[in-house]
Amino acid sequence: MSLATVAVVGFPNVGKSTLVNRLVGGNEAVTSPEPGVTRDRKRLATEWNGIAFELVDTGGIDLGDEAELAQDVQAQARLGIAEADAIVMVVDGRAGLRAGDAELAKTLRGSQVPVIVVVNKADRPDDYSITAEFHGLGLGDPIAVSATHGLGTGDLLDAIAAALGDREPQADEDDATRVAVIGRPNVGKSSLVNAFLGSERVIVSDVAGTTRDAIDTEVEVDGRRAILVDTAGLRRRSKVAGTVDYYAQLRSERAVERADVAIVVCDASEGVTTEDLRVSEMAMKAGCASLLAMNKWDVTTTDIDDARARVARKLRLRPAVITCSAKRGRNVVTLLPRAMELADKAAERIPTPELNRFVSDIVARTPPPSKRGKRLRLYYSAQVGESPPRVAIQVNDRKLISRDWAYHLENRMREAYELEGVPLIIDFVPASGRRRYGSD
Ligand code: GDP
Ligand code: GDP
Repeated sequence: MSLATVAVVGFPNVGKSTLVNRLVGGNEAVTSPEPGVTRDRKRLATEWNGIAFELVDTGGIDLGDEAELAQDVQAQARLGIAEADAIVMVVDGRAGLRAGDAELAKTLRGSQVPVIVVVNKADRPDDYSITAEFHGLGLGDPIAVSATHGLGTGDLLDAIAAALGDREPQADEDDATRVAVIGRPNVGKSSLVNAFLGSERVIVSDVAGTTRDAIDTEVEVDGRRAILVDTAGLRRRSKVAGTVDYYAQLRSERAVERADVAIVVCDASEGVTTEDLRVSEMAMKAGCASLLAMNKWDVTTTDIDDARARVARKLRLRPAVITCSAKRGRNVVTLLPRAMELADKAAERIPTPELNRFVSDIVARTPPPSKRGKRLRLYYSAQVGESPPRVAIQVNDRKLISRDWAYHLENRMREAYELEGVPLIIDFVPASGRRRYGSD
């Protein structure tokens, strides 16, 4: 099982960041900031009573406008429900119950994830009565803490550990392929997902039985299981004026982190835009395989060869570009199986002898670079990871590797193993040579 995740949600200024830092012992060194759009979400690992977990500080943008703010907090809550094993809802004990708290609690109550209400800023040991008004949120007994003074944090950690302790083993999703449908607003993501769900080849499972949440949709395509990641976010389509891009971006980021493969939807009537390329790169960075779906093919005059050429030029992974129309049903039934096949490719393991033969062939055909009379030598190769594939190759001297040659090797490998659209990591590791390729 992966490290348990605890999402910390709440309105800005209630003290979430202060609390998270307090809970991990102020050890900022373990922070791994992730690239966000307008904010950084921090993930900090910690441990209590032998239970290790990661706290995710969802941050929060102060949108000023009360309605937008509430939307943002709701979005945090939904993300928490989707990906966390427990949720800590932080409220400000000094400010008291605020307008959005009840609404937030309502969203959280609807999930299967344990929720702990934390009343922060209870700075004096006798402040415990300030929790009274938060009982009404219907999320159990609130815990009073003072993040700045460190009061009550032991009780809170006990409660978190207890909540994680009875964490149900996740439903067996291992053999299911996790597919994310991402892209700019209005390219037709929702329409495509609805078209998938309505197609004859796709059987939508009864998700009521799955413990995690109802945010993903489990489907069966030609007898194989797939999970459409964050379909709720798409089907509901809550669009807040002015913040659409922000949410679309955030949603895509979260989705690729949880997916094996992403269908990057583009609007064919606009061609492949810079923004579409950026979405694809985001999937790549998350280690997620991807293919591009040129939707709205029914109304386009775009030249597919131009689009493919642009993609091949701009995206190193050279993902496949497939035309489709959610409206007319064109290629709708083939997209999902194609995405699943790609995920399979990314999960494949190249047998070591075969990989060594392959590298040796490349070396023989295109000799590696040399600098000042010293030639790059490649020794033993082995695949050390999959989904995405990762290969380690022992070399005599890493300084001799040129960018061009490394790309050449990567591109040949991508072609040979049909990894178009699959991130491929090649680690060159220094070694004292025994088995070498090529001749002197
Ligand atoms: P976030 O926006 O929810 O992450 O809130 P921050 O952690 O940035 O805290 C917002 C403000 O509340 C800061 O000025 C903190 O110093 C203050 N604060 C946080 N925890 C406490 C607390 O336990 N007691 C008091 N009095 N202030 C706190
Ligand atoms: P999303 O924001 O990416 O989820 O996009 P939507 O699914 O909401 O679609 C945006 C708009 O494009 C809607 O008006 C759809 O009716 C329209 N649309 C979606 N797919 C197609 C398509 O294949 N062809 C055409 N002509 N319009 C489409």
